[in-house]
Amino acid sequence: MTEPLLDVKDLHGWYGESHVLHGVSLSVQAGETVALIGRNGAGKTTTLRAIMNLLSRREGQIRFSGRDIMGVPRHRVAYEGLGFVPEERGIFHSLSVTENLRLLPQTGPDGMRDDDIYRFFPNLKERGRAGGGTLSGGEQQMLAIARVLRTGSKLLLLDEPTEGLAPVIVQRIAEMLRALKDSGMTMLLVEQNFHFAKSLADRFFLIENGQIAGSFARDEFDAHASAITEVVGV
Ligand code: ATP
Repeated sequence: MTEPLLDVKDLHGWYGESHVLHGVSLSVQAGETVALIGRNGAGKTTTLRAIMNLLSRREGQIRFSGRDIMGVPRHRVAYEGLGFVPEERGIFHSLSVTENLRLLPQTGPDGMRDDDIYRFFPNLKERGRAGGGTLSGGEQQMLAIARVLRTGSKLLLLDEPTEGLAPVIVQRIAEMLRALKDSGMTMLLVEQNFHFAKSLADRFFLIENGQIAGSFARDEFDAHASAITEVVGV
């Protein structure tokens, strides 16, 4: 088996004195979509933040694209090809859609070109001059994803992309992410919406109390339904 694009081993993370991640290990192969699922407070967001070097303290091993990236300072992590789309999306309300899109620097030659961005997210072209604050939740989510793709990310870390969105919009986001996946993009997805996660992910990692409690492929999902229910509490 080839080396995973992202390989996380025994990752620990802290908020101040509070030890939240207790040895998370997970991997994502190039081209794969992996979902990290677990109940509220299990450590999903913290895992993404630890990978992006956004915690005050972390320990463990993280390899990306064959390189140890534990020593990479936080302002350089995006340059390595990791793109984080946080749950709060980070859209500037007073800037237009196009200005929001151009806010992050293109970090490498692989940044998605505007034509391709608008092919994946046609509404962003139509709404280019609109203020970020006038966008719907779904459009803001698309803008947040598009902005990161423009930087040249090889791996998208998505934190609850469906949070607060109506079912019809969730479906549109799923279609767009599926198109991205079909184009070869690799994704690590944190999601509470199982139906959505199941429609996209090739593999799942269950997280409980800051540790991985199990992992399985999409076609094993139903066989693990009771364990998932127990861990995730739905
Ligand atoms: P949710 O779906 O609620 O976001 P999660 O699985 O993403 O859940 P995390 O946000 O990673 O959970 O939180 C893991 C633990 O860390 C929780 O106990 C939470 O209370 C704690 N925590 C999260 N953010 C902070 C913070 N900024 N300072 C201190 N503790 C935090």
